Order: sequence, then C-alpha cells, then structure tokens
Amino acid sequence: MIDIHKYDKNNIFSKILNKELPSTPIYEDDYVYAFEDINPQAPVHVLIIPKGKFCSLKDFSSKADDVTILKVFKSIDKIANELNLHEGYRVISNIGETGGQEVPHFHIHLLAGKRLGRLINV
Ligand code: AMP
Repeated sequence: MIDIHKYDKNNIFSKILNKELPSTPIYEDDYVYAFEDINPQAPVHVLIIPKGKFCSLKDFSSKADDVTILKVFKSIDKIANELNLHEGYRVISNIGETGGQEVPHFHIHLLAGKRLGRLINV
C-alpha cells in the first residue's frame, strides 16, 4: 500500500528526476519533467511530473505555491502542442489507493494518439 501523506524520496519518479533511473524525456523546464510511460496505454502516453516533492494531486494542491501550480498545469497543453495533439488528448491523475495510484510522486498521465474509449473500467 502506498503512502500519499508522507513523501517517499526513494519512489521511482524521484529516482527518475535524480537521473538514478533512465527515462525517455519529452519535455523539461524549471518546474516540470515529462517522460514516456514505460507501459503505454495509448500510442501517446506521457507522464508529467513536478520537480518538487509532492505525493499526489491532493498534496500538490494543498502545498505547492501558486506559481508552481500554474506552471505545472500550463505545461500540459504546451506539451500537447509540442506533440501535435491537435485532435485532442486526455489527462488523468490517480490519487491514493482508491484512485489507483501506484507511484507516490504526483503525476499527470497525458494520453492520445487514438480515439480513447470509456473513461474508466470499474
Ligand atoms: P499510477 O498508477 O497513476 O501511479 O501510474 C504510474 C505509472 O507509472 C504507470 O502508468 C506505469 O506504467 C508508470 N511507470 C512505472 N515505472 C516507470 C518507469 N520506470 N518509467 C516510466 N513509467 C513508469
């Protein structure tokens, strides 16, 4: 069971940010790193993560400063434009056990490249 209340500096995405683990970069700025998901669920499946230590969207929303929140959310469409996703895309962020979150570093899934099906399987 993951803990999304206390940041685990050994989580996979922290190691990717620190370059201790490899990743395929898509975009980077002072606030954000985006890279390819290792197990893509669509032709385009990018993970967008803040460089700061936030466990989840919930943690990010309550603890990140306004500029960081703005920069991270504005990066989504910037990345989509750089990837020429003019037909549209989907963003998802899983939060906690119920939300299906597996990695306890806040991340946004950006999915595209085909017509996506129903939003969730329950
Ligand atoms: P979530 O279930 O929302 O926490 O999503 C975690 C995502 O991280 C999954 O889509 C995994 O495929 C992806 N993932 C796990 N390990 C890696 C890795 N080393 N590099 C890239 N993506 C990863």
